[in-house]
Amino acid sequence: MSVRKIYTQGDEVLSKKSHPVTKFDHKLHVLLDDMRDTLIQADGAGLAAPQIGILRRVVVVSDGDTITELVNPEIVATQGEQNGLEGCLSVPQKYGMVKRPMVVTVKAQDRDGYFFTMTGQEIVARAFCHEIDHLNGVLFTEYTNHLFTPDEIQQIAEEEA
Ligand SMILES: [Zn+2]
Repeated sequence: MSVRKIYTQGDEVLSKKSHPVTKFDHKLHVLLDDMRDTLIQADGAGLAAPQIGILRRVVVVSDGDTITELVNPEIVATQGEQNGLEGCLSVPQKYGMVKRPMVVTVKAQDRDGYFFTMTGQEIVARAFCHEIDHLNGVLFTEYTNHLFTPDEIQQIAEEEA
């Protein structure tokens, strides 16, 4: 198990479409273990394989306690709407307002190929959308026309307080 390098905006791999996983073998398990380690180390809400340079449809999403592994994930249902600040480990120190569904149900396979569905709300729903976008070569910066720095966000928070 090891922490991998996270590619950042401008690296070509982040704008490419990832390929479906067909083999649920040791190589996939090593990838998932490394993605877990990398996500924990970076303290993120989610990580997609292309962010570590692997064009496979694999993501990990954290709700703060548990990390869920999703192989070949697809959104099958959404409900409601949320508008909030979103960030990305591949776009360090920048945040943007992005509208996402409030509730998202995904269908995916686990590391052994078994299908399951899972419903997430709020931050998890946002992470499902954000990470699946990565598999299609899309970054959140495409949805927003202004990127905030951490200083600007703090300023806004202070003005609102
Ligand atoms: Zn991201």
